[in-house]
Amino acid sequence: MTASNTVPFKVPLAVMGGSGAYHLLTGQALGREEACEVLDTPYGQSAPIHLFNFANREFLFLSRHGETDYSLTAPFVNYRANIHALKQCGVERVIAWSGPGIINPNFKPGDFVVPHDIIDETRNRETTFFKDTGVGFIRQNQPFCPQIAEALQGVLRENALPYHDQAVYACTEGPRLETPAEIRKLGILGADLVGMTLAPEAFLAREMELCYTPFCYLTNYAEGIKPREFKKGELFEGMQTDAEKKQVDAAIKKFPALINAVFENLQGVERACDCSEALRRYKNKGMLGENPLP
Ligand SMILES: [Zn+2]
Repeated sequence: MTASNTVPFKVPLAVMGGSGAYHLLTGQALGREEACEVLDTPYGQSAPIHLFNFANREFLFLSRHGETDYSLTAPFVNYRANIHALKQCGVERVIAWSGPGIINPNFKPGDFVVPHDIIDETRNRETTFFKDTGVGFIRQNQPFCPQIAEALQGVLRENALPYHDQAVYACTEGPRLETPAEIRKLGILGADLVGMTLAPEAFLAREMELCYTPFCYLTNYAEGIKPREFKKGELFEGMQTDAEKKQVDAAIKKFPALINAVFENLQGVERACDCSEALRRYKNKGMLGENPLP
């Protein structure tokens, strides 16, 4: 696919898809696809951005880890290009779909979680759009948009689905999975979930003043949380049982309808959060224009 230098569409809503997103793309579960473009950015090319129409509502969809199978692991996703491209497309609200592991034993595979906080344990990723500029002290009292979180929780409640609204997500570097000692450490630090994708993505989205909220479905218990034999040749080498896999697959199938319901609830609703004012101080000082795109 060739990259586009002009912005192909202006759509305020986007979903960034996690592991398993390619199944939705290839299974046509996201509605009618109207267009797909790779965008050029100062940080390289974005992942393909798909314009979908689901029940007469347009949204953009970006699959972080590949289009037809899992072909790009988390440390190698170009987070800056992806967020920059969505900002170019006029996106204001992002639902960040991801499938983390479970540290808090009260959570179960297949549960939905709308995390409220994050611990960044990544080490080798580009974390800011504003290198060498003096811009970047951005408060993180609510690292995820509370307005989208509320809309997500409302839809989960209406559908009587099991979910958790208080959860701390720890983001590790990967691509290898964590050791038992690392999971114990993250638990002591207060993490309920562990994954590899939300940092620095969430922080880059805040730098672009986007509303960004993760919507997680839980895939498996993290290492050492439950006894699990090593099973050669299977997904995660036995960390997920067959019963858990069925619960997870069922959760993924619900995803398109849930997302559509959230977007329906947010349509026409003004942004009432502080996300769009994250850089106000730098704009007031004249260090950035109203549109902060580098
Ligand atoms: Zn917001």
